[in-house]
This record gives sequence, structure tokens and C-alpha cells, in this order.
Amino acid sequence: MYKWEENLRKVDPYVPGAQPKQKDVIKLNTNENPYPPSPKVIAAIREGDLENDMRKYPDPNSSDLVRSLKEYYGIEDMDVFVGTGSDDVLSIAFLTCFNSDKPIIFPDVTYSFYPVWARVYGIPYKEIPVDEGMRIRVEDYNVGAEMKEPNGGVVIANPNAPTGINLSRKEIREIVEANSDVVVIVDEAYVDYSGESALSLLVDHENLLIVRTFSKSRAMAGARIGFAIGSPRLIKAMNDVAQSVNSYTKPTTSLRAAVASVEDEEYFRARIDDVLKTRARTVLELKKRGFNVLPSSTNFVFAAPTRIDAKLLFEELGDRKIYVRYFTGERTSKYLRITIGTDREMDALFAAIDEIM
Ligand code: PMP
Repeated sequence: MYKWEENLRKVDPYVPGAQPKQKDVIKLNTNENPYPPSPKVIAAIREGDLENDMRKYPDPNSSDLVRSLKEYYGIEDMDVFVGTGSDDVLSIAFLTCFNSDKPIIFPDVTYSFYPVWARVYGIPYKEIPVDEGMRIRVEDYNVGAEMKEPNGGVVIANPNAPTGINLSRKEIREIVEANSDVVVIVDEAYVDYSGESALSLLVDHENLLIVRTFSKSRAMAGARIGFAIGSPRLIKAMNDVAQSVNSYTKPTTSLRAAVASVEDEEYFRARIDDVLKTRARTVLELKKRGFNVLPSSTNFVFAAPTRIDAKLLFEELGDRKIYVRYFTGERTSKYLRITIGTDREMDALFAAIDEIM
């Protein structure tokens, strides 16, 4: 090791799902939307002045998209922070909101990026075990009632990932109210797929931050647009931090595409319904094949095969160019996380499973 290496910041990075270059694969590993974004999104990109968009810096405040989202959600009293995907939004939220010596808390089975941000920013954290059924136990976050140790903040993905399990708005409210002295981040990346949003809690809870993305239900993972909704003072603090790191992060083309997506409600709802129908079928087909499938409120299922080892099935599917996600780790290694694709893609998955088992 060279002397200069001693001063490098060393971290164990987040491991993103594979993005294979080949086209002829069935990609059910990163919870992308199997359908294209609204035709209005593509039209808005094509009709834009691309030369201008490339030559000039984008709007650092994303003001058109902020306006459009405020109107869409009817949240005039709230503010919106836009980031380069919700990973960027969450990263800025961690950096802004968790500046305390006390540990932040989140479930032990949840989005595996949370502990990575905590470590890179030097935020102490504690993982709270989910129960046997992989459910978040709300009482474990109920600081006041149980006289639990004080924490420096709370992060809940709702619905949770990779489990897909949803907490009700009432349960989220309990967590937010029991932790009113710290910021509670609710990551609603998958909420459009029959989750229960905490949006209506914002008016009474200024410590709540709701994070959303255009990557899943809006089929725009490639545009890298995510956002957070919260009280103006919380969003201002986030914008101040974000502007102290990098100002021009969201490309004009992506911002324009995002506004166009918000304007096509009909298409948005129709594609969500398509995924929900295929999800219902997928659950039945997997159960028929002996899988233990957790109740999903997302565009993926977390399912444990009982007749074959999960890792072996993952590898065998990969050999057949069907990509699903496998997580090592004591509590998750019996499961596969399978994104809901088109009906045809799922049929190919079922056929491959039948062949392998
Ligand atoms: N939150 C959760 C729970 C996720 O699963 C993902 C997708 N990996 C993200 C946030 C980030 O998605 P994006 O950066 O594409 O918005």
C-alpha cells in the first residue's frame, strides 16, 4: 500500500443490479418498468431544442417540474426538491437531515443503499430487525411509548424493498409522531403500485420527508429524476446542501420529459394497472410452483422457492438469460426478488422455472 493511499476514504459500495448490454435478455432484476414511458414523454424530448439543451446549463432549481409536481399532488403549502434519481435525493437527504451523534434507525431488511450512505457520510446507524414474516414492527420505532434509546432520524421504505410489504398510513403516522424530534424519511419509490402514501400527513408533520422517483411507475429510470416533498424549511435545507455539492445536476431533457410524464395521467394509470394484473398472475404461478411469496404492494415480488435453493435457481435462470435479483445475507438468501415484466416475459420465467425444477 502506498503512503498516499492511507488517506483515501474507504467504503464498501452499494452493488447495483446488473445492466447487461445484450438486448435478448429478460431483465427482471432492477424493478424497471417493462413498458415504455408515455408517448408524450418521447414527443417532448424530440420537440425540444436539443442543441440549446446541450449547450446551456440546465435550470438549477428545476422550477417547471417543481411547479408541475406541486399542482399534480395539490401541495401548494409544501415544497419539492428535485434530484438526479431518488438515489441522489436520498443521499442529499441523509447528508442534510442526519447530522447528529445519535444513530439513525432503519429496518435490517430494506434498501441496501441506506447503510452505505450512512457509512460514507459517517452517520451512526442501527438496523432494527423486521419480524419473522419480514414485516416492519411499528412499535420498534415508537420511541416515546417504549422509552427506546433516542435516535438521530428514521428511514422507512414504504412499501419496503426488497420485501414489497406495505405499512398503512396509520402505521407511518405512528412512526412520524413518535419521532417528532428527528426527520423521518419515507422512501415511496414503489408506492404507485398499490402502496399507501403518507402525503396527506405532511401538513401536520414538518419532520416528514417523502421521497419519490420517476424510475419505476413512470418508466424513466434512464432520465434519472427523483424528488422529495416536505415542509419548505426542510426542502430549503436540502437545497442548500445540494447547491453546496453540485448545482446543475438535472439535464434539461430529463426535466422536460418528467413534466410531460406528469401531464399524461391516463397512460400512467393504464400501465400501472397492466403491471398489477401481471403481478396477481405471477403470485399465483409462483405459489403453484411451491414458492413462498410475500404480499407485494410493488412492481416486484420477493419469493422463496421451496423445492430448489434460491441461489441455484438464480444462477440457472441467469444461464437462460433471465435476470432476477439475489441478495446474499442471512435473512434474504432464501428469496429471489423478481420484477414484474410483461405477461410474455413472465411466461418465459415460469417455463424456465419448470425446466429447472
Ligand atoms: N429507493 C428504493 C427503495 C429503490 O429500490 C430504488 C431503486 N434502486 C431507489 C430508491 C432509487 O431509484 P432511482 O435512483 O432510480 O430513483
